Amino acid sequence: MKRLAALLLALILAAPAWAAPPLTLDGDMEQGGLVIGRAAPGAKASLDGMVLDVSEAGIFAFGFDRDHDKNATLTVLYPDGTSVERKLAVAPRDWQIQRVEGVPSKYVTPPPEAMAAIARATKLKTEARATRAAGSFFTETFIWPATGPISGVFGSQRYYNGEPRRPHYGVDVAAPTGTPIRAPAGGTVTLADGDMYFEGGLVFLDHGQGVTSLTMHMSRVDVKAGDRVEQGDIIGAVGGTGRATGPHLHWGVYWRGAWLDPQLLVGPMEDAIAAAGGN
Ligand SMILES: [Zn+2]
Repeated sequence: MKRLAALLLALILAAPAWAAPPLTLDGDMEQGGLVIGRAAPGAKASLDGMVLDVSEAGIFAFGFDRDHDKNATLTVLYPDGTSVERKLAVAPRDWQIQRVEGVPSKYVTPPPEAMAAIARATKLKTEARATRAAGSFFTETFIWPATGPISGVFGSQRYYNGEPRRPHYGVDVAAPTGTPIRAPAGGTVTLADGDMYFEGGLVFLDHGQGVTSLTMHMSRVDVKAGDRVEQGDIIGAVGGTGRATGPHLHWGVYWRGAWLDPQLLVGPMEDAIAAAGGN
């Protein structure tokens, strides 16, 4: 009887090895994390009921917003009709508070005459965010668009001149004006504008399926909407344009409606500086 039970247990444990359809998930199951799924050609996938883009090879991306709750459900449907439902635990994180002083008041409480410029910028961003580019460049190992001291991290609750504003959805890298900004991964430029009210010089670069890097406060924008770029291509230069108190790169990443933490996608800054032969 004992041996039979052991045999049955062995059979049960062995079963998934040949019965389960292929599904691997790589990335960070936490707030601000990006996850890359690999299923099978022809597979379909959805996250909490939202249909995901899936490449021909069966690769898909999804992410968790800063304020995502603890649970998510991934469903994958295979061409042969089988399906897999995966319950995902999304780890919560603690967020810092960051106070930024010395911000020109027109960027904290914009005057009425700024409304047209803000509306123009909002329209450009809304249109760009409604698109999702082809490709799976998000599977590349991301590189830092510029290197330097990190002066702001993802998720901080921000106060400008003491006024509470929305959280900081990106990472800030202090660097001199004119420092080249490189594409952190390949992709398609979906927005390129030198004069956005809050962002200053701004580029959106879609790495596929809507996984998009944005770089802001740029002194120079070297690309235009529709351009295809490769990882490492120069897309512009660091500046202090828009709501900035000094020259720095702000690098943000979003996927559809969710803001992601760029630092989860890229290796340590020290490694990048060492690799470049810098100090
Ligand atoms: Zn920033």
